[in-house]
Amino acid sequence: MKEIHHWIDGKEVKGTSGRFADVFNPATGEVQARLSLATRAELDAAVDSAARAQVKWGGTNPQRRARVMMKFVDLLNRDMDKLAEALSSEHGKTFPDAKGDVQRGLEVIEFCIGAPHLLKGDYTDSAGTGIDMYSMRQPLGVVAGITPFNFPAMIPLWKMGPALAAGNAMILKPSERDPSVPLMLAQLLQEAGLPDGVLQVVNGDKESVDAILDNPVIQAVGFVGSTPIAQYIYERAAATGKRAQCFGGAKNHMIIMPDADLDQAADALVGAGYGAAGERCMAISVAVPVGEKTADALIEKLVPRIEKLKVGPWTAGDDVDYGPVVTRAAKENIHRLVQSGIDQGAELVVDGRDFSLQGYEDGFFVGPHLFDRVTPEMDIYRTEIFGPVLSTVRAGSYEEAIGLAMNHEYGNGTAIFTRDGDAARDFANRINIGMVGINVPIPVPLAITPLAAGRNPASAT
Ligand code: NAD
Repeated sequence: MKEIHHWIDGKEVKGTSGRFADVFNPATGEVQARLSLATRAELDAAVDSAARAQVKWGGTNPQRRARVMMKFVDLLNRDMDKLAEALSSEHGKTFPDAKGDVQRGLEVIEFCIGAPHLLKGDYTDSAGTGIDMYSMRQPLGVVAGITPFNFPAMIPLWKMGPALAAGNAMILKPSERDPSVPLMLAQLLQEAGLPDGVLQVVNGDKESVDAILDNPVIQAVGFVGSTPIAQYIYERAAATGKRAQCFGGAKNHMIIMPDADLDQAADALVGAGYGAAGERCMAISVAVPVGEKTADALIEKLVPRIEKLKVGPWTAGDDVDYGPVVTRAAKENIHRLVQSGIDQGAELVVDGRDFSLQGYEDGFFVGPHLFDRVTPEMDIYRTEIFGPVLSTVRAGSYEEAIGLAMNHEYGNGTAIFTRDGDAARDFANRINIGMVGINVPIPVPLAITPLAAGRNPASAT
Protein backbone atom coordinates (compact mmCIF):
# COMPACT_ATOMS: atom_id res chain seq x y z
CA MET A 1 0.00 0.00 0.00
CA LYS A 2 1.32 3.43 -0.97
CA GLU A 3 2.19 5.60 2.03
CA ILE A 4 2.06 9.40 2.02
CA HIS A 5 4.13 11.34 4.54
CA HIS A 6 5.19 14.94 5.19
CA TRP A 7 7.29 17.55 3.36
CA ILE A 8 9.74 19.01 5.83
CA ASP A 9 12.94 20.96 5.21
CA GLY A 10 12.73 20.39 1.48
CA LYS A 11 12.23 16.64 1.44
CA GLU A 12 9.71 13.93 2.08
CA VAL A 13 9.93 12.90 5.73
CA LYS A 14 8.42 9.69 7.02
CA GLY A 15 5.95 10.08 9.85
CA THR A 16 6.75 8.42 13.16
CA SER A 17 3.35 8.35 14.88
CA GLY A 18 2.29 4.97 13.53
CA ARG A 19 -1.15 6.53 13.03
CA PHE A 20 -2.56 6.62 9.50
CA ALA A 21 -5.68 7.80 7.66
CA ASP A 22 -7.07 6.02 4.60
CA VAL A 23 -7.00 7.92 1.33
CA PHE A 24 -9.72 6.57 -0.95
CA ASN A 25 -10.29 6.41 -4.65
CA PRO A 26 -13.85 7.77 -4.43
CA ALA A 27 -14.79 6.32 -7.83
CA THR A 28 -14.10 2.72 -6.77
CA GLY A 29 -14.36 2.98 -3.01
CA GLU A 30 -10.92 1.38 -2.64
CA VAL A 31 -8.26 2.62 -0.26
CA GLN A 32 -5.43 3.81 -2.51
CA ALA A 33 -2.96 5.09 0.10
CA ARG A 34 -2.31 5.49 3.79
CA LEU A 35 -1.55 8.96 5.08
CA SER A 36 0.76 9.46 8.02
CA LEU A 37 -0.79 11.59 10.77
CA ALA A 38 1.69 13.80 12.59
CA THR A 39 2.21 13.95 16.32
CA ARG A 40 2.44 17.17 18.29
CA ALA A 41 6.22 16.67 18.55
CA GLU A 42 6.56 16.30 14.78
CA LEU A 43 4.54 19.45 14.23
CA ASP A 44 6.55 21.42 16.77
CA ALA A 45 9.84 20.31 15.20
CA ALA A 46 8.62 21.43 11.77
CA VAL A 47 7.70 24.84 13.25
CA ASP A 48 11.12 25.29 14.86
CA SER A 49 12.86 24.55 11.63
CA ALA A 50 10.48 26.86 9.69
CA ALA A 51 11.27 29.65 12.16
CA ARG A 52 14.99 29.26 11.40
CA ALA A 53 14.39 29.24 7.63
CA GLN A 54 12.10 32.28 7.85
CA VAL A 55 14.86 34.60 9.07
CA LYS A 56 16.70 34.50 5.75
CA TRP A 57 13.54 34.32 3.63
CA GLY A 58 12.01 37.30 5.43
CA GLY A 59 15.23 39.23 4.81
CA THR A 60 15.25 38.40 1.10
CA ASN A 61 14.13 41.38 -0.90
CA PRO A 62 10.47 41.17 -1.99
CA GLN A 63 11.32 41.20 -5.68
CA ARG A 64 13.44 38.08 -5.34
CA ARG A 65 10.64 36.39 -3.43
CA ALA A 66 8.24 37.41 -6.20
CA ARG A 67 10.54 35.79 -8.78
CA VAL A 68 10.04 32.48 -6.99
CA MET A 69 6.30 33.02 -7.46
CA MET A 70 6.86 33.80 -11.15
CA LYS A 71 8.75 30.56 -11.68
CA PHE A 72 6.14 28.70 -9.63
CA VAL A 73 3.43 29.88 -12.06
CA ASP A 74 5.43 28.40 -14.96
CA LEU A 75 5.76 25.10 -13.15
CA LEU A 76 2.07 24.97 -12.26
CA ASN A 77 1.26 25.46 -15.93
CA ARG A 78 3.81 22.84 -16.93
CA ASP A 79 2.39 20.25 -14.52
CA MET A 80 -1.27 21.23 -14.77
CA ASP A 81 -2.43 17.85 -16.10
CA LYS A 82 -0.36 15.88 -13.59
CA LEU A 83 -1.74 17.94 -10.72
CA ALA A 84 -5.31 17.65 -11.99
CA GLU A 85 -4.99 13.87 -12.34
CA ALA A 86 -3.73 13.46 -8.79
CA LEU A 87 -6.47 15.78 -7.59
CA SER A 88 -9.29 13.95 -9.39
CA SER A 89 -8.07 10.55 -8.29
CA GLU A 90 -8.26 11.47 -4.59
CA HIS A 91 -11.12 13.98 -4.60
CA GLY A 92 -13.28 12.45 -7.34
CA LYS A 93 -14.10 15.68 -9.19
CA THR A 94 -14.07 15.67 -13.00
CA PHE A 95 -10.82 16.34 -14.83
CA PRO A 96 -11.91 19.77 -16.22
CA ASP A 97 -13.09 20.72 -12.73
CA ALA A 98 -9.75 19.63 -11.23
CA LYS A 99 -7.91 21.81 -13.74
CA GLY A 100 -10.14 24.69 -12.71
CA ASP A 101 -9.17 24.03 -9.09
CA VAL A 102 -5.47 24.36 -9.96
CA GLN A 103 -6.09 27.31 -12.29
CA ARG A 104 -7.93 29.36 -9.66
CA GLY A 105 -5.06 28.84 -7.23
CA LEU A 106 -2.51 29.62 -9.90
CA GLU A 107 -4.20 32.99 -10.43
CA VAL A 108 -3.54 33.85 -6.79
CA ILE A 109 0.15 33.06 -7.31
CA GLU A 110 0.13 35.31 -10.40
CA PHE A 111 -1.31 38.04 -8.21
CA CYS A 112 1.48 37.49 -5.68
CA ILE A 113 4.09 38.29 -8.31
CA GLY A 114 2.98 41.89 -7.74
CA ALA A 115 3.47 41.63 -3.96
CA PRO A 116 6.50 43.98 -3.84
CA HIS A 117 4.20 46.85 -4.76
CA LEU A 118 1.76 45.92 -1.98
CA LEU A 119 4.51 45.52 0.60
CA LYS A 120 5.61 49.14 0.44
CA GLY A 121 5.03 51.13 3.61
CA ASP A 122 3.83 54.68 4.18
CA TYR A 123 5.70 57.87 4.92
CA THR A 124 4.28 60.72 6.94
CA ASP A 125 6.07 64.00 6.60
CA SER A 126 6.12 66.17 9.76
CA ALA A 127 4.12 63.88 12.01
CA GLY A 128 5.38 66.15 14.78
CA THR A 129 7.63 69.17 14.71
CA GLY A 130 10.80 68.00 13.06
CA ILE A 131 9.64 64.41 13.16
CA ASP A 132 8.77 62.28 10.15
CA MET A 133 7.29 58.79 10.50
CA TYR A 134 7.32 55.78 8.30
CA SER A 135 5.61 52.44 8.49
CA MET A 136 6.89 49.16 7.11
CA ARG A 137 5.13 45.96 6.16
CA GLN A 138 7.02 43.13 7.75
CA PRO A 139 6.43 39.39 7.75
CA LEU A 140 4.82 37.92 10.85
CA GLY A 141 7.24 34.99 11.04
CA VAL A 142 5.72 31.52 10.94
CA VAL A 143 2.08 31.25 9.94
CA ALA A 144 -0.18 28.25 9.32
CA GLY A 145 -2.85 27.19 6.83
CA ILE A 146 -5.43 24.49 7.63
CA THR A 147 -7.39 23.57 4.55
CA PRO A 148 -10.44 21.50 3.49
CA PHE A 149 -10.80 18.61 1.07
CA ASN A 150 -12.96 20.25 -1.54
CA PHE A 151 -10.33 22.45 -3.23
CA PRO A 152 -7.04 20.69 -2.50
CA ALA A 153 -5.08 22.89 -4.93
CA MET A 154 -6.85 26.25 -4.86
CA ILE A 155 -7.18 26.74 -1.13
CA PRO A 156 -3.60 25.75 -0.17
CA LEU A 157 -2.48 28.12 -2.96
CA TRP A 158 -4.72 30.90 -1.58
CA LYS A 159 -2.96 30.48 1.72
CA MET A 160 0.64 29.91 0.68
CA GLY A 161 0.96 32.54 -2.07
CA PRO A 162 0.40 35.69 0.00
CA ALA A 163 2.05 34.24 3.13
CA LEU A 164 5.27 33.28 1.34
CA ALA A 165 5.43 36.32 -0.94
CA ALA A 166 5.23 38.51 2.17
CA GLY A 167 8.27 36.76 3.63
CA ASN A 168 6.66 34.38 6.10
CA ALA A 169 7.40 30.71 6.57
CA MET A 170 4.34 28.52 6.51
CA ILE A 171 3.05 25.30 7.99
CA LEU A 172 0.39 23.83 5.74
CA LYS A 173 -1.91 21.20 7.24
CA PRO A 174 -3.99 20.03 4.27
CA SER A 175 -7.07 17.85 4.37
CA GLU A 176 -6.33 14.21 5.13
CA ARG A 177 -8.79 13.17 2.38
CA ASP A 178 -6.73 14.36 -0.60
CA PRO A 179 -3.17 15.15 0.50
CA SER A 180 -1.15 14.48 -2.67
CA VAL A 181 -1.60 17.78 -4.50
CA PRO A 182 -0.42 19.96 -1.57
CA LEU A 183 2.75 17.84 -1.41
CA MET A 184 3.25 18.25 -5.16
CA LEU A 185 2.84 22.01 -4.76
CA ALA A 186 5.58 22.04 -2.12
CA GLN A 187 7.92 20.17 -4.46
CA LEU A 188 7.20 22.61 -7.27
CA LEU A 189 7.91 25.53 -4.98
CA GLN A 190 11.27 24.02 -4.15
CA GLU A 191 11.99 23.68 -7.87
CA ALA A 192 10.95 27.33 -8.26
CA GLY A 193 13.63 28.34 -5.76
CA LEU A 194 11.86 28.46 -2.41
CA PRO A 195 14.47 27.72 0.27
CA ASP A 196 14.03 24.51 2.24
CA GLY A 197 12.02 24.83 5.45
CA VAL A 198 10.05 27.90 4.35
CA LEU A 199 7.03 25.76 3.46
CA GLN A 200 6.43 22.69 5.60
CA VAL A 201 3.54 20.39 4.73
CA VAL A 202 2.56 18.49 7.83
CA ASN A 203 -0.20 15.95 7.35
CA GLY A 204 -2.47 15.13 10.22
CA ASP A 205 -5.77 15.35 11.97
CA LYS A 206 -7.01 17.04 15.15
CA GLU A 207 -3.74 16.32 16.97
CA SER A 208 -1.65 18.34 14.54
CA VAL A 209 -4.28 21.08 14.27
CA ASP A 210 -4.29 21.46 18.04
CA ALA A 211 -0.50 21.52 18.01
CA ILE A 212 -0.63 24.40 15.49
CA LEU A 213 -3.11 26.29 17.63
CA ASP A 214 -1.08 25.87 20.81
CA ASN A 215 2.35 26.54 19.31
CA PRO A 216 3.55 29.95 20.53
CA VAL A 217 5.84 30.52 17.53
CA ILE A 218 2.98 30.46 15.02
CA GLN A 219 1.64 33.99 14.67
CA ALA A 220 -1.38 33.56 12.43
CA VAL A 221 -3.73 30.84 11.24
CA GLY A 222 -5.80 30.76 8.07
CA PHE A 223 -8.53 28.13 8.13
CA VAL A 224 -11.09 27.05 5.56
CA GLY A 225 -13.53 24.24 6.32
CA SER A 226 -16.79 23.49 8.09
CA THR A 227 -18.37 25.96 10.50
CA PRO A 228 -18.05 24.01 13.77
CA ILE A 229 -14.32 23.52 13.17
CA ALA A 230 -13.92 27.14 12.04
CA GLN A 231 -15.45 28.29 15.33
CA TYR A 232 -13.26 25.94 17.32
CA ILE A 233 -10.11 27.12 15.57
CA TYR A 234 -11.03 30.79 15.89
CA GLU A 235 -11.56 30.47 19.65
CA ARG A 236 -8.49 28.37 20.37
CA ALA A 237 -6.24 30.49 18.12
CA ALA A 238 -7.48 33.65 19.83
CA ALA A 239 -6.79 32.11 23.23
CA THR A 240 -3.11 31.88 22.32
CA GLY A 241 -3.07 35.40 20.86
CA LYS A 242 -2.86 34.42 17.20
CA ARG A 243 -4.38 36.28 14.31
CA ALA A 244 -7.04 33.96 12.89
CA GLN A 245 -9.07 34.09 9.71
CA CYS A 246 -11.59 31.26 9.58
CA PHE A 247 -13.97 30.56 6.70
CA GLY A 248 -16.85 28.17 7.35
CA GLY A 249 -19.73 26.40 5.64
CA ALA A 250 -22.41 27.62 3.29
CA LYS A 251 -26.04 27.43 2.28
CA ASN A 252 -26.26 29.61 -0.79
CA HIS A 253 -29.66 30.81 -1.95
CA MET A 254 -30.64 31.79 -5.48
CA ILE A 255 -33.78 33.89 -5.82
CA ILE A 256 -35.73 33.52 -9.05
CA MET A 257 -38.06 36.44 -9.69
CA PRO A 258 -41.24 36.05 -11.79
CA ASP A 259 -39.64 38.12 -14.59
CA ALA A 260 -36.44 36.00 -14.77
CA ASP A 261 -35.39 34.17 -17.91
CA LEU A 262 -36.31 30.73 -16.58
CA ASP A 263 -34.21 28.78 -19.06
CA GLN A 264 -31.17 30.77 -18.04
CA ALA A 265 -32.03 30.34 -14.36
CA ALA A 266 -32.58 26.59 -14.72
CA ASP A 267 -29.27 26.13 -16.57
CA ALA A 268 -27.51 28.14 -13.90
CA LEU A 269 -29.11 26.16 -11.08
CA VAL A 270 -28.11 22.83 -12.56
CA GLY A 271 -24.46 23.91 -12.93
CA ALA A 272 -24.27 25.58 -9.54
CA GLY A 273 -26.31 23.01 -7.66
CA TYR A 274 -24.82 19.78 -8.98
CA GLY A 275 -21.35 20.71 -10.28
CA ALA A 276 -18.59 19.00 -8.27
CA ALA A 277 -21.38 16.87 -6.72
CA GLY A 278 -22.41 19.94 -4.71
CA GLU A 279 -19.12 19.87 -2.79
CA ARG A 280 -18.43 23.56 -3.29
CA CYS A 281 -18.68 26.31 -0.74
CA MET A 282 -20.13 28.41 -3.54
CA ALA A 283 -22.67 25.79 -4.66
CA ILE A 284 -26.26 26.95 -4.84
CA SER A 285 -28.15 24.58 -2.58
CA VAL A 286 -31.42 26.50 -2.20
CA ALA A 287 -33.58 27.77 -5.05
CA VAL A 288 -36.15 30.38 -3.99
CA PRO A 289 -38.68 31.00 -6.76
CA VAL A 290 -41.00 33.92 -6.02
CA GLY A 291 -44.65 33.06 -6.57
CA GLU A 292 -46.35 29.72 -7.22
CA LYS A 293 -46.39 30.24 -11.00
CA THR A 294 -42.64 30.87 -11.09
CA ALA A 295 -42.04 27.84 -8.89
CA ASP A 296 -44.14 25.49 -11.03
CA ALA A 297 -42.51 26.70 -14.24
CA LEU A 298 -39.01 26.46 -12.73
CA ILE A 299 -39.51 22.89 -11.50
CA GLU A 300 -40.83 21.94 -14.94
CA LYS A 301 -37.64 23.27 -16.52
CA LEU A 302 -35.30 21.81 -13.91
CA VAL A 303 -36.49 18.19 -13.91
CA PRO A 304 -35.47 17.20 -17.47
CA ARG A 305 -32.14 19.01 -17.11
CA ILE A 306 -31.36 17.21 -13.85
CA GLU A 307 -32.41 13.85 -15.23
CA LYS A 308 -29.95 14.33 -18.09
CA LEU A 309 -26.96 14.86 -15.78
CA LYS A 310 -24.15 12.35 -16.31
CA VAL A 311 -22.52 11.08 -13.17
CA GLY A 312 -19.28 9.12 -13.48
CA PRO A 313 -15.57 8.75 -12.77
CA TRP A 314 -13.09 11.47 -13.68
CA THR A 315 -11.42 9.08 -16.13
CA ALA A 316 -14.45 9.56 -18.41
CA GLY A 317 -13.12 13.07 -19.16
CA ASP A 318 -15.58 15.61 -20.55
CA ASP A 319 -18.36 13.01 -20.67
CA VAL A 320 -19.36 13.45 -17.05
CA ASP A 321 -21.02 16.36 -15.28
CA TYR A 322 -19.94 15.36 -11.81
CA GLY A 323 -18.13 12.58 -9.99
CA PRO A 324 -18.45 10.77 -6.68
CA VAL A 325 -18.47 12.48 -3.29
CA VAL A 326 -15.31 12.24 -1.27
CA THR A 327 -15.97 9.42 1.20
CA ARG A 328 -18.50 6.73 2.07
CA ALA A 329 -19.32 8.70 5.23
CA ALA A 330 -20.15 11.77 3.10
CA LYS A 331 -22.42 9.65 0.89
CA GLU A 332 -24.19 8.15 3.90
CA ASN A 333 -24.68 11.58 5.44
CA ILE A 334 -26.28 12.86 2.22
CA HIS A 335 -28.64 9.87 2.09
CA ARG A 336 -29.53 10.38 5.75
CA LEU A 337 -30.40 14.02 5.11
CA VAL A 338 -32.43 13.16 2.01
CA GLN A 339 -34.42 10.69 4.11
CA SER A 340 -35.00 13.39 6.74
CA GLY A 341 -36.33 15.70 4.01
CA ILE A 342 -38.85 13.04 2.97
CA ASP A 343 -39.79 12.31 6.59
CA GLN A 344 -40.27 15.99 7.34
CA GLY A 345 -42.64 16.46 4.39
CA ALA A 346 -40.58 17.86 1.52
CA GLU A 347 -41.49 16.65 -1.97
CA LEU A 348 -38.69 14.66 -3.61
CA VAL A 349 -39.21 15.52 -7.26
CA VAL A 350 -36.00 13.94 -8.58
CA ASP A 351 -34.93 10.91 -6.56
CA GLY A 352 -31.28 9.91 -6.86
CA ARG A 353 -31.29 7.41 -4.02
CA ASP A 354 -31.06 4.29 -6.15
CA PHE A 355 -28.29 5.60 -8.38
CA SER A 356 -25.69 2.99 -9.21
CA LEU A 357 -22.99 2.93 -11.87
CA GLN A 358 -22.09 -0.32 -13.57
CA GLY A 359 -18.51 -1.28 -12.76
CA TYR A 360 -18.34 1.29 -9.94
CA GLU A 361 -20.90 -0.15 -7.55
CA ASP A 362 -18.65 0.47 -4.52
CA GLY A 363 -17.81 4.06 -5.54
CA PHE A 364 -19.17 7.01 -3.57
CA PHE A 365 -21.55 8.17 -6.30
CA VAL A 366 -24.73 9.97 -5.36
CA GLY A 367 -27.47 10.55 -7.90
CA PRO A 368 -28.94 14.04 -8.28
CA HIS A 369 -31.84 14.99 -6.00
CA LEU A 370 -34.34 17.81 -6.29
CA PHE A 371 -36.66 18.74 -3.44
CA ASP A 372 -39.70 20.98 -3.78
CA ARG A 373 -41.83 22.55 -1.01
CA VAL A 374 -38.96 22.67 1.46
CA THR A 375 -39.66 24.82 4.52
CA PRO A 376 -37.20 26.67 6.78
CA GLU A 377 -37.68 24.31 9.75
CA MET A 378 -36.53 21.23 7.83
CA ASP A 379 -33.08 19.77 8.42
CA ILE A 380 -32.35 19.77 4.68
CA TYR A 381 -32.80 23.55 4.73
CA ARG A 382 -30.93 24.27 7.94
CA THR A 383 -27.95 21.98 7.30
CA GLU A 384 -25.16 22.22 4.77
CA ILE A 385 -25.68 18.95 2.85
CA PHE A 386 -22.56 19.28 0.65
CA GLY A 387 -23.95 16.90 -1.95
CA PRO A 388 -25.95 16.93 -5.20
CA VAL A 389 -29.20 17.93 -3.53
CA LEU A 390 -31.05 21.10 -4.47
CA SER A 391 -33.87 22.32 -2.22
CA THR A 392 -36.66 24.55 -3.50
CA VAL A 393 -38.28 26.89 -1.02
CA ARG A 394 -41.31 28.64 -2.51
CA ALA A 395 -41.56 32.28 -1.43
CA GLY A 396 -44.70 34.38 -1.64
CA SER A 397 -42.88 37.65 -2.25
CA TYR A 398 -39.47 39.18 -2.92
CA GLU A 399 -39.34 40.37 0.71
CA GLU A 400 -39.91 36.84 1.96
CA ALA A 401 -37.24 35.49 -0.42
CA ILE A 402 -34.56 38.00 0.57
CA GLY A 403 -35.46 37.45 4.25
CA LEU A 404 -34.81 33.72 3.88
CA ALA A 405 -31.33 34.27 2.47
CA MET A 406 -30.49 36.99 5.00
CA ASN A 407 -31.62 35.08 8.04
CA HIS A 408 -30.04 31.72 7.29
CA GLU A 409 -27.20 30.72 9.59
CA TYR A 410 -24.85 30.25 6.62
CA GLY A 411 -24.21 32.51 3.71
CA ASN A 412 -21.11 32.50 1.53
CA GLY A 413 -22.71 33.69 -1.66
CA THR A 414 -26.14 34.39 -3.06
CA ALA A 415 -27.73 35.24 -6.39
CA ILE A 416 -30.83 36.71 -7.95
CA PHE A 417 -32.20 36.08 -11.41
CA THR A 418 -34.35 38.94 -12.64
CA ARG A 419 -34.75 41.27 -15.63
CA ASP A 420 -35.71 44.17 -13.38
CA GLY A 421 -32.86 46.58 -12.74
CA ASP A 422 -34.52 48.00 -9.62
CA ALA A 423 -34.90 44.55 -8.05
CA ALA A 424 -31.28 43.72 -8.91
CA ARG A 425 -30.05 46.97 -7.39
CA ASP A 426 -32.16 46.60 -4.27
CA PHE A 427 -30.89 43.04 -3.80
CA ALA A 428 -27.24 44.01 -4.22
CA ASN A 429 -27.61 46.86 -1.74
CA ARG A 430 -29.60 45.12 0.96
CA ILE A 431 -28.39 41.55 1.01
CA ASN A 432 -26.04 40.90 3.93
CA ILE A 433 -24.08 38.13 2.25
CA GLY A 434 -20.61 38.73 0.85
CA MET A 435 -20.57 37.44 -2.71
CA VAL A 436 -23.61 38.52 -4.73
CA GLY A 437 -24.51 37.30 -8.21
CA ILE A 438 -27.00 39.03 -10.48
CA ASN A 439 -28.04 36.67 -13.26
CA VAL A 440 -24.82 34.83 -12.40
CA PRO A 441 -25.17 31.67 -10.32
CA ILE A 442 -21.89 31.40 -8.45
CA PRO A 443 -20.22 34.71 -7.68
CA VAL A 444 -16.80 33.11 -7.28
CA PRO A 445 -14.10 35.45 -6.04
CA LEU A 446 -11.06 36.09 -8.22
CA ALA A 447 -7.51 36.70 -7.10
CA ILE A 448 -8.02 40.41 -7.73
CA THR A 449 -11.27 40.69 -5.77
CA PRO A 450 -11.90 40.18 -2.07
CA LEU A 451 -13.53 36.96 -0.90
CA ALA A 452 -16.31 38.60 1.03
CA ALA A 453 -17.72 35.35 2.33
CA GLY A 454 -19.95 34.95 5.34
CA ARG A 455 -22.80 37.18 6.42
CA ASN A 456 -23.42 40.07 8.68
CA PRO A 457 -26.21 39.07 11.07
CA ALA A 458 -26.61 42.60 12.37
CA SER A 459 -28.13 43.70 9.11
CA ALA A 460 -30.55 40.79 8.70
CA THR A 461 -34.17 41.73 8.25
P1 NAD B 1 -13.56 20.11 7.80
O1 NAD B 1 -13.95 21.21 8.69
O2 NAD B 1 -13.97 18.73 8.13
O3 NAD B 1 -11.95 20.04 7.66
C1 NAD B 1 -11.19 21.20 7.38
C2 NAD B 1 -9.82 21.05 8.05
O4 NAD B 1 -10.00 20.96 9.47
C3 NAD B 1 -9.07 19.80 7.62
O5 NAD B 1 -7.72 20.11 7.43
C4 NAD B 1 -9.27 18.84 8.80
O6 NAD B 1 -8.20 17.96 8.97
C5 NAD B 1 -9.39 19.79 9.99
N1 NAD B 1 -10.26 19.23 11.03
C6 NAD B 1 -11.33 18.42 10.86
N2 NAD B 1 -11.89 18.11 12.05
C7 NAD B 1 -11.14 18.72 12.99
C8 NAD B 1 -11.21 18.78 14.43
N3 NAD B 1 -12.16 18.15 15.10
N4 NAD B 1 -10.29 19.51 15.08
C9 NAD B 1 -9.33 20.15 14.41
N5 NAD B 1 -9.21 20.14 13.05
C10 NAD B 1 -10.11 19.44 12.35
O7 NAD B 1 -14.05 20.53 6.32
P2 NAD B 1 -14.03 19.65 5.00
O8 NAD B 1 -15.08 18.61 5.08
O9 NAD B 1 -12.64 19.24 4.67
O10 NAD B 1 -14.43 20.75 3.91
C11 NAD B 1 -15.75 21.06 3.58
C12 NAD B 1 -16.23 22.30 4.33
O11 NAD B 1 -15.42 23.43 3.98
C13 NAD B 1 -17.64 22.70 3.95
O12 NAD B 1 -18.32 23.09 5.11
C14 NAD B 1 -17.44 23.89 3.03
O13 NAD B 1 -18.53 24.79 2.94
C15 NAD B 1 -16.26 24.53 3.64
N6 NAD B 1 -15.57 25.42 2.70
C16 NAD B 1 -15.68 26.77 2.92
C17 NAD B 1 -15.07 27.66 2.04
C18 NAD B 1 -15.17 29.14 2.26
O14 NAD B 1 -14.49 29.88 1.57
N7 NAD B 1 -15.99 29.59 3.19
C19 NAD B 1 -14.34 27.15 0.95
C20 NAD B 1 -14.25 25.77 0.78
C21 NAD B 1 -14.86 24.90 1.68
